[in-house]
Amino acid sequence: MTEIDMLSALEPIVGRRAADLLSEQLDIATVGDLVRHYPRRYVDRGKLTDIAGLEIGEHATLVAQVEKATLRDMRQRRGKLLNVVIRDEKGATLDCTFFNGHKVNHYIHPGVRAVFSGKVGVFNKKLQLTHPQFEALDEADEVRPFLSVYPATGKLGSQMIARCVRQVLDVLDDPTDPLPPLVRNREGLAELGRALRRIHVPESEADIHAARNRLVWDEAMGVQLALALRRQATGARPAAACPPKPGGLLDAFDAALPFTLTAGQHAVGAEISADLAREHPMNRLVQGDVGAGKTVIALRAMLQVLDSGRQAAMLAPTEVLAAQHARSLRALLGPLAAAGELGAAEQATRVTLLTGSLGAKARRQALLDAQSGAAGIVVGTHALIQEHVGFADLGLVVVDEQHRFGVEQRDALRGRGEQAPHMLVMTATPIPRTVAMTVYGDLEVSALKELPRGRSPIATSVVPLAEKPAWFASVWRRVREEVAAGHQVYVVCPRVGGDTAAKEDPDADLVDLDDPDIGADSDDVASRRPPQAVLDVAPKLEGEGFLPGLRLGVLHGKLPPDEKDTVMRAFERGELDVLVATTVIEVGVDVPNATGIVILDAERFGLSQLHQLRGRVGRGSAPGVCLLVTEAPAGTTARERLDAVAGTTDGFELARLDLELRREGDVLGAMQSGRRSGLRLLSLLRHEEIIAKAQVYAGHIVADDPGLRRHPGLAALVGATVGDEERAAYLDKV
Ligand code: ADP
Ligand code: MG
Repeated sequence: MTEIDMLSALEPIVGRRAADLLSEQLDIATVGDLVRHYPRRYVDRGKLTDIAGLEIGEHATLVAQVEKATLRDMRQRRGKLLNVVIRDEKGATLDCTFFNGHKVNHYIHPGVRAVFSGKVGVFNKKLQLTHPQFEALDEADEVRPFLSVYPATGKLGSQMIARCVRQVLDVLDDPTDPLPPLVRNREGLAELGRALRRIHVPESEADIHAARNRLVWDEAMGVQLALALRRQATGARPAAACPPKPGGLLDAFDAALPFTLTAGQHAVGAEISADLAREHPMNRLVQGDVGAGKTVIALRAMLQVLDSGRQAAMLAPTEVLAAQHARSLRALLGPLAAAGELGAAEQATRVTLLTGSLGAKARRQALLDAQSGAAGIVVGTHALIQEHVGFADLGLVVVDEQHRFGVEQRDALRGRGEQAPHMLVMTATPIPRTVAMTVYGDLEVSALKELPRGRSPIATSVVPLAEKPAWFASVWRRVREEVAAGHQVYVVCPRVGGDTAAKEDPDADLVDLDDPDIGADSDDVASRRPPQAVLDVAPKLEGEGFLPGLRLGVLHGKLPPDEKDTVMRAFERGELDVLVATTVIEVGVDVPNATGIVILDAERFGLSQLHQLRGRVGRGSAPGVCLLVTEAPAGTTARERLDAVAGTTDGFELARLDLELRREGDVLGAMQSGRRSGLRLLSLLRHEEIIAKAQVYAGHIVADDPGLRRHPGLAALVGATVGDEERAAYLDKV
């Protein structure tokens, strides 16, 4: 046989049938794929239960021998039942019943020894295991202190995988360790070969722990090297240096600013200003809670770029927000934005709105302004990049509310041209440290901690309709009180409604109701009725409804763009008392006179999303109120999540909770492409320290060996993490 390495095919080692199954069922093709298919859990034989000691209701795992197996017809249904009696080493017996008898029949017959696990129940006054999981044992298993249980499928059981793994480990020489000895020694990490053997065939719990720890490091290094390479690739491109120009637009703007910048705005502004002055592109993320005042920061950055004779583009996730940004930038700039108009300031520029749905004429003009350079600032949705709008000289791209944009879109924004624009990304979603180090690891991060002074507290309450149905009426009484006091209120619904089609608001970022992690135990609520819809709720409030005499507006992504704009402006001007809307208002909408927000079916929204929505109020001097209306019963996790939102206004805390509740894979998945995810063990919650250290090592290694030529093993790790294509993009250019 030729030498076996991680890239070898499996068939010569495990045989044709097993190799086919592995490839078909689990997409495992090579030796490397298989040894990186780690056990999901282990059965510690020292901790197995005896049959004699079983108790009703407990979840038991035991090793026993099949004594009798009888196949019967079921009385009520089609199919066959398999009644099995098993006996443990101490001689005690137990009944087990399998409902898919005709299938398991082939594996379970007298004499077979197996691990059985399941919940202990009672039938005919005797204890029994109903439909337990079982794993037949072979001789090799009998002497092992731990049995490895693999992620498996119906056709390819865990024991069969275990056998293939052992066959492979028997013939595989220890692979070359990709981690530099320096890292391994300093962090006390096992060698790769040993770790791979131990994770599959451990002798002790300490083995499992050490093996996993080492393999987590591989994944963390893969991620951090990929990010360090990405930073290197984007940061190395030339960019136009835009140093501050005294006496320019920025100075004029600062002189006219009606408020003083907070210390945080000053500090972040200085970081950005220094970045812009360099000949390589800025890649900076500004993170600041809702209302922290990020727009002014972005505008000042744009003005610095304009002062160097270049243009700036600002991208927003929705048309509503793009239109609002254009308005508020013009308002902030005043005469400085009135180029070509009467009374304009001498250096004035122009702010142009360019969205996908402009009328043909307005669109042509906007495109022309971008192309000629007449528009210093172009505001739009990401249609702006998708449609390859031509700029005379684009120096800076500002992306607002980043959490709607993925890594790939970020790359598209950087463009492929000779010179890359500077990039400033702004998000109000607080980012837990590990996410900042991974998903946003290609960006430098500035945090804007304090809020401008004069912000008001927001009181958040859960309105639990399951227990207090009568409170529904009080919600609307409270809304009337806010309006009577001269304020305005948002009412948010999860759906647009109005038709039977399941098509949702294209602009709204709704919780995926099919997502088992989020919808989970609100299912019982969901099954009773569809979630509240804007077009159903509004008529119930109007006229003779809960809010008689109040001026109501309706806003959602299905409205034609100019109507959205009209409604939003009317609300901004105080011509509407109540705005019934989907989450289109989630990000960035800024109406200081709005003091109340009612969120219906609140359990339908993610934690960070609720925090964002709540951030729409309390922006002026009057205190805000946020009512989270839900039918989810007390004691469900849906209710716990809402209580968490009501319990804290700390966005960081909520973001962390959100991360715990979301599938981490989705977060990490955002940075991966390629056939399979290389990340199996790495957790953003549990491995914060490892991720942080790996980031430092990766930075040093890439600075020292930019093409990873002296570290071929690490280059392979990068490929395993982000796919070979991306790896090649980073490494082959250097
Ligand atoms: P966000 O960070 O959520 O985007 P905005 O930029 O929309 O916040 O700012 C919210 C409001 O606070 C705006 O009306 C803005 O003009 C105002 N603002 C920003 N900075 C300050 C400041 N230093 N002092 C007072 N008000 C400010
Ligand atoms: Mg904003």
